[in-house]
Amino acid sequence: MILPIVAYGDPVLKKKGKDISKDYPKFDVLLENMFETMYNASGVGLAAPQIGLPIRLFLVDTSPFAEDQDLTEAEQKALGTFKRVFINAQIIEEDGDEWVFNEGCLSIPDVREDVFRKPKITVSYLDENFEAHTESFDGLIARVIQHEYDHIEGVLFTDKLSSFKKRLIKSRLTNISKGKVDVDYRMRFPNQKKKR
Ligand SMILES: [Zn+2]
Repeated sequence: MILPIVAYGDPVLKKKGKDISKDYPKFDVLLENMFETMYNASGVGLAAPQIGLPIRLFLVDTSPFAEDQDLTEAEQKALGTFKRVFINAQIIEEDGDEWVFNEGCLSIPDVREDVFRKPKITVSYLDENFEAHTESFDGLIARVIQHEYDHIEGVLFTDKLSSFKKRLIKSRLTNISKGKVDVDYRMRFPNQKKKR
């Protein structure tokens, strides 16, 4: 089932997510719905707060990036096969010189901005079978994980912009929260006036 994606301005996007356990109700259905919702919106990642749940869960599937002709064959292959569920994730290390990437977010349609992040991360997390892993990632895979990880920490990529950039996009963000945006997937807008 495709779930509505929560838009910018909803308080759930500002909440720090809570850890979950194996007995989380109907977890398999939730995962299935989240994957369906992410693919329907052509996203490369989706975090539980974006469907209204303040829990530490996110998905990543970087395969759409594999088409990028600027990447090496090895990078294309790595991105093309990377599909992962992250439960109760903690980034335990971030390393290297910050690099810029133009990020977007399913909760903030039509807004893309350059964001600086460190290139290498080490993450401890549980997979969909609640088995523990500690793994290091770099490049675009690390980038997507960092973006989704921010969601479970209650942080959006727009929070990381300069105050100048924030001022420039403020009215667009306000419009998004009111539903004044063209979007081709299901969304829930916090400040939309009720239709009669
Ligand atoms: Zn996002």
